Amino acid sequence: MELKLYNTLARRKEVFLPMDGGRVLIYTCGPTVYADAHIGNLRSYVFPDVLKKTLRRLGYQVRHVINITDVGHLTSDADTGEDKLEQAARSAGRTAWDIAEEHIGHYLEDLRRLRIELPDVMPRATDHIAEQIEMIRVLEKKGYTYRTDDGVYFDTSRFPGYGALARIKVEGLQEGARVEMGGKRHKTDFALWKFSPQDSRRQMEWESPWGMGFPGWHVECSAMSMKYLGPSFDIHTGGTDHIPVHHSNEIAQSEAVTGKPFVRYWLHGEFLVLGEEQRMGKSEGNLITLDELVERGFEPMAYRYLVLNSHYRKYLTFTWQALQSADTALMGLRRLIRDALPEGTVPKPIAGDPPQGSLEASLLEAVCDDLNTPKALGLFWTALRDGALAAGKKATLAVFADEILALGLFDFSRLEQSEDVPPEIRHLAEKRWAARQERNFAESDRLREALTAGGYSVRDGKDGYELVRLDQGRG
Ligand SMILES: [Zn+2]
Repeated sequence: MELKLYNTLARRKEVFLPMDGGRVLIYTCGPTVYADAHIGNLRSYVFPDVLKKTLRRLGYQVRHVINITDVGHLTSDADTGEDKLEQAARSAGRTAWDIAEEHIGHYLEDLRRLRIELPDVMPRATDHIAEQIEMIRVLEKKGYTYRTDDGVYFDTSRFPGYGALARIKVEGLQEGARVEMGGKRHKTDFALWKFSPQDSRRQMEWESPWGMGFPGWHVECSAMSMKYLGPSFDIHTGGTDHIPVHHSNEIAQSEAVTGKPFVRYWLHGEFLVLGEEQRMGKSEGNLITLDELVERGFEPMAYRYLVLNSHYRKYLTFTWQALQSADTALMGLRRLIRDALPEGTVPKPIAGDPPQGSLEASLLEAVCDDLNTPKALGLFWTALRDGALAAGKKATLAVFADEILALGLFDFSRLEQSEDVPPEIRHLAEKRWAARQERNFAESDRLREALTAGGYSVRDGKDGYELVRLDQGRG
């Protein structure tokens, strides 16, 4: 089966052909570990996960790298401002190393909870200073760099085709938008190495041929991706915000060093936006983390369902109501699957290609069309609801679907939990729901308190409610 991916370089869907037969090399820009990832950040790791699982289903071996940015990412993309790690450390009165360690731990925990498979390599920028210095030395030797008061910069005018990924018109840009120039020669030039400040001491700094300092943010991704995947590799993923600066710079410096095409397919995920149409970036201050979802009683899989139910290249509007609907849908799928299991035994996965014309083949075809997970979910729902389809076929399809979508579809613990609710609690809950429907909020609040006293919290959806045992977080 053909896999088609939307390649940002070409601005269209292309048939995916790996460089090296059966092996696919993927690099994903990872988190800057100065704060916990918010759910918008986490969205951008779900689609590479589906991609990996799809590639494996198609018979490929996958090697995947996600980096950890623990130095050099400044508060402004224009190489000005403070290092995010140093700033976080100072305001917390801790070391930058300590801050990084803590947030790497949280990130790994977030991936685990979202059933995102860990990459083969997770290199840290601070462990690859030598590789970054070496890359800058080669660029310097080849004449791509110049020095200013505050660092060593890449001269983008020396790289023909700079900004092709972003379709940046460099000439227009030079005269147009205002960019803080410092000692830069061109607006698109970027820092490869920054000098430590004269008046204060950084926590993270290293000796280099140019003086004490630290690497720029972009150079780490080139140095580490090429170290672990080679000078040219198949797929690079990231958020759409990386296109104009970070990824354009990665291409320029990598190809300037090697003289070879850097990456063949660039995949970019669109933003998560909050209900009120704001991009969920750290600057807005209204961030939602996976911890917060769990604290509100949601299962992380509800969030994964919400993400998969929207195409990765489309904006996803997050509201708590939408998350609740996703959760209800996920529980509905699990109920249908459990009902389809003959005596509770989960069938074995299909080995090799699914038979032509089978439901499994249609599902795979949907994800092979630029990871169209909403379509795959739609097909899956239709099949599970089909009264004429044998239970065994539904069960086999569910195993196949869960291999790619990884929604914990065979985790029935919450179904069982909700069925175990004592009758007196169920009675209170029913009375409360009725009071709420009659808009008798005083009575409904009173009954909610009674439920809390009985050890249950209640969450309302559009068409019903769900009881959650208070002593059992659903992490
Ligand atoms: Zn990167």
